[in-house]
Amino acid sequence: MRLILLGPPGAGKGTQAQRLVHKHGIVQLSTGEMLRAAVAAGTPIGLKAKDIMASGALVPDDVVVGIIADRIEEPDAKKGFILDGFPRTVPQAAALDELLKKKHLKLDAVVELRVNESALLERVETRVAQMRERGEEVRIDDTPEVLSKRLASYRAQTEPLVHYYSEKRKLITVDGMMTIEQVTAAINRVLAALEADSAAKAEKKAAARKPAKARKPAGKAKAATAAKGTGKAAKKSAKKAVKKAAKATARKAKKASKPAGKAVKGRKKTAAKAKSRAAGTRTVKTRKVAKKATKKGAKTVKRLTKRR
Ligand code: AMP
Repeated sequence: MRLILLGPPGAGKGTQAQRLVHKHGIVQLSTGEMLRAAVAAGTPIGLKAKDIMASGALVPDDVVVGIIADRIEEPDAKKGFILDGFPRTVPQAAALDELLKKKHLKLDAVVELRVNESALLERVETRVAQMRERGEEVRIDDTPEVLSKRLASYRAQTEPLVHYYSEKRKLITVDGMMTIEQVTAAINRVLAALEADSAAKAEKKAAARKPAKARKPAGKAKAATAAKGTGKAAKKSAKKAVKKAAKATARKAKKASKPAGKAVKGRKKTAAKAKSRAAGTRTVKTRKVAKKATKKGAKTVKRLTKRR
């Protein structure tokens, strides 16, 4: 299964992705996580992304597309994946389409978690306060100020994807304002329906293919008809042959019933006559042709010697 989780920061994409990972045994590919790891490791990508991320803006498309292109090549992504935080712009979505097309992979669904922005801000404020109370480190871009910026970039650059995927009939919208459990249950329901639908479609396709297979190809069908025709004709001619043979046998039987000596004598006489006639004619003709050819040859020789 290949899914995209779409929704503004703080909508609960990460939490739901984790649950889907457990349920379907597929990997979660979060560009945010990968970029944070790159920043922590100080890789060239990390160095490029660090300040952009801290400001709440988006990292350039080619950077994240490159990361995802490499990541979906990994063996653990073969079974399927959930993209969390990617794509975030229309060009990223178009690049993903190309990537999947090249690999002959199908995107199953885009699950949009729809949330209320002011409720999101409240959620983040509460979470940040709780983390600080527990002494946990708070993400640099998880403050209410940066979150407002991230929400603005979501509206401007990412929300157009709702239309993009709805046009492609891939979009499933779930109310992200419900409890985590309720959101999970809603996602599971729509995905189960989707799976049932594609299974039914596959069955229908297979059923439609069966009679076509059973049908003989045009050539074979023609050959079969021809063979049938031949069979009838053969039967007819066989009947004729039987009749003919019966007549011939009757004739032979009649002849055979004649006195034996007379029959043999007659046959011998006819055969001898025919033999001599045939031999004579052929010999005479050959002789005449040879005489003509000799005369002609002599004349030609005479003409040639005169010219010289
Ligand atoms: P996230 O954890 O998904 O909220 O991402 C954290 C930050 O990483 C974002 O605010 C962006 O700066 C950057 N980022 C993550 N994913 C993308 C993406 N697909 N395109 C551009 N920037 C991204």
